[in-house]
Amino acid sequence: MIFSPVRTMREKNIPVVLAKTLNGQDRRAMLECLAGIPPRLSRQVPQATRDAAVEEFLRTLKRLAEQWIASGKDPRDPSREEPWVRNAIWFSDTYQEPIERTLRKFLGRHPLPITPDSAGRFAVERWDLRESQSMSPEDPLSRAQDLAIFEFQKFLSSDCPQRLFQCANCNKYFVLARKPRGVIQRGSFCKQCKGAGRVKGIQEKRITQKEKMLNVAAGAWSEWTPRKRIDQKAWAVQAVREKCGWIEVKWITRNLTEILKRVEELKDGKEKNG
Ligand SMILES: [Zn+2]
Repeated sequence: MIFSPVRTMREKNIPVVLAKTLNGQDRRAMLECLAGIPPRLSRQVPQATRDAAVEEFLRTLKRLAEQWIASGKDPRDPSREEPWVRNAIWFSDTYQEPIERTLRKFLGRHPLPITPDSAGRFAVERWDLRESQSMSPEDPLSRAQDLAIFEFQKFLSSDCPQRLFQCANCNKYFVLARKPRGVIQRGSFCKQCKGAGRVKGIQEKRITQKEKMLNVAAGAWSEWTPRKRIDQKAWAVQAVREKCGWIEVKWITRNLTEILKRVEELKDGKEKNG
């Protein structure tokens, strides 16, 4: 039984091709073929069976990809990611079976025919799981699952499986053009979301800076008494300049409503505590 080679293109850049499959961007016929239903049989197999096989294939593949990526994330702060820490022996409450164990079980079901090649090296080249005797033709879901595991193992053996990421914003998979370096601090974002991610970071920073300024101004405002012999606004300006950086008097004027609100909150807080 020989299947037509659908994977010539796929071999070229395995991480990129895998990301495409994970994102559901493959043609339907290609997905069915990957999930173990060859094109020449597809008319004989009921639609529901084909759908179930494709679903099982994608589910298994996604789970492995997620687990692989999660193995490099800081469990306390998933936006901190170290791709070179990723490994196949890691497991967690969500991913209870290490990938390595999944692969061992796979090998138990499908012993690889290792043979010496012409150079005397042990090789499993040219082995196609689809053609393997160990594949059960009666169980399309198990077939789909094992094909997904096999597909993922090829990805792990590829040039740089550390280049695969899942976008923290849109959940799409993407592949870095170069090998990643060191630690990623604030989540990985695909090209489309990268701009958005950066904007979000800057906005957060600005808000915190403004929060700090408003709080300092409100603190100074409520401390003020006529005995300070200085205008109340000028007093608040001084405090903000001292603790947060240069501002004009009109900054206080512009934000007076917000500052007075905080002054009230400070008063309420004092009354409650006192
Ligand atoms: Zn994205």
